[in-house]
Amino acid sequence: MKKHYDVIIVGAGPAGIFAALEMVYADKGLKILLIEKGKNIDKRICPTKDEKVSCRTCPVCNLLCGWGGAGAFSDGKLNLSKDIGGNLSRYMDDTTLQELITYTDEIYQRYGAPADTYGTDTGRVNELRDLAAKNGLVLIPSQIRHIGTDRCPGLLKRIQADLDSKVDIAFSKDVTTVLVEDEKVIGVETKDGSVIYGDFVILAPGREGSLWLEEQARSMGLSLLKNPVDIGVRVEIPAAVFEPLTSVIYEPKLIFNSKKFNDRVRTFCVNPYGEIVREYVKGVWTVNGHSYSDRKTLNTNFAILVSTNFTEPFDEPHLYGRYIARLANLLGNGIILQRLGDLQEGRRSTHARIARGRVKPTLKNAVPGDLSFVLPYRYIMNILEMIRAIDKIAPGMNSRHTLLYGVEVKFYSRQLTLDNHLETEIKNLFTVGDGAGVSRGLIQASVSGVIAAREILNRVN
Ligand SMILES: Cc1cc2nc3c(=O)[nH]c(=O)nc-3n(C[C@H](O)[C@H](O)[C@H](O)COP(=O)(O)OP(=O)(O)OC[C@H]3O[C@@H](n4cnc5c(N)ncnc54)[C@H](O)[C@@H]3O)c2cc1C
Repeated sequence: MKKHYDVIIVGAGPAGIFAALEMVYADKGLKILLIEKGKNIDKRICPTKDEKVSCRTCPVCNLLCGWGGAGAFSDGKLNLSKDIGGNLSRYMDDTTLQELITYTDEIYQRYGAPADTYGTDTGRVNELRDLAAKNGLVLIPSQIRHIGTDRCPGLLKRIQADLDSKVDIAFSKDVTTVLVEDEKVIGVETKDGSVIYGDFVILAPGREGSLWLEEQARSMGLSLLKNPVDIGVRVEIPAAVFEPLTSVIYEPKLIFNSKKFNDRVRTFCVNPYGEIVREYVKGVWTVNGHSYSDRKTLNTNFAILVSTNFTEPFDEPHLYGRYIARLANLLGNGIILQRLGDLQEGRRSTHARIARGRVKPTLKNAVPGDLSFVLPYRYIMNILEMIRAIDKIAPGMNSRHTLLYGVEVKFYSRQLTLDNHLETEIKNLFTVGDGAGVSRGLIQASVSGVIAAREILNRVN
């Protein structure tokens, strides 16, 4: 018998989950299928935790794929400012976007996100913003709700319990092809050869599925925009050094324009009292960080990332990012760790030098080495310039004991041409979340799912 749904959603990350939730809340009796190539949350166990196995042994990564998507074991920082975490402001005015952020934030709270937020003391935020401005930095004020890595799985389970009886959820099913007829979507095909028909399809494959989405877009003849890449290091410092900032704004977003190269350099993903983790992205190890709500280390970590334009005719920023990450993996057997003082003095870090340092690394298997063998001069100069600027608002940042882990690479997805409802040039085919390049974080990914769902609800009314 022909399998048919009103709506098929591909990907059970925040974008896909919030699209499903919105349609279930509307209670229109829509027949919805949510297809996810990963596993359910309790089965998402990374084998590298207990055994010495290579990530290459997992065909689907349990850390990035499955119920909750890449955000399931994330720090769960909900960025409540419209200027952070995505490009949705391209598709709507500021007021509408802020309303949608508040709406999705309330849903997160309904399922267990804590009530308190950071960054609400406007007076102190403005003081910090002025101090930053005097030192060549732009501080983007933002309000953050911190779920915490330990609370995320429980929250996701509670959402699933609400969806379970109203949405068909298929795990370990990989969608391979989007089916289109006469410029209109008609369904999807999965790896096991099943064809499932649907009146509407929402693709929410995340960064993990962004290359697949790009291939699909090309084969459907859709227009694609550029996909940038940001490269840098993760910095680890005593939490006390950043306390004057993190006590006011949980995640201070600082932007700096480097003097020598005039590149945009920024802080990203600040984890007060957190720890550094490795991330395996399509065959390469990169660095990331998170923090727990109930367990604190003595350190704060964050990324310093450089965005730059490459010289023509080169137009493959992703390849460049992967090349740099591979180089770090080659030289460090994974992640390279260096003390700032060693980098400044032009020498490698060693186990002995790291052990003598005042900041104790939270990522134990990073290998002491020399980042100047990995990162081009332009990146090193940009990062060192920004570190000196931050030191003026957070004294102690430019200490020789500051730890740098390399490399951190943010691959942003190739953006598709979408209308204001996030519909593609193919009728009834929507793309949402990080995979479509419209978001870069939990809240805007969730909002994008709501936008597509609302448009579908309008049309079936
Ligand atoms: C370590 C880490 C920490 C982070 N911390 C934060 C944070 O604190 N705050 C924040 O705002 N953001 C954070 N992020 C980013 C955040 O997780 C993402 O922005 C968000 O998850 C994107 O949601 P999404 O639904 O678009 O995609 P994803 O969450 O990536 O979900 C996509 C899902 O689609 C599935 N899929 C892909 N292709 C297919 C296919 N062909 N067939 C079937 N299924 C498919 C994948 O398995 C995946 O489960 C973090 C990310 C990581 C990796």
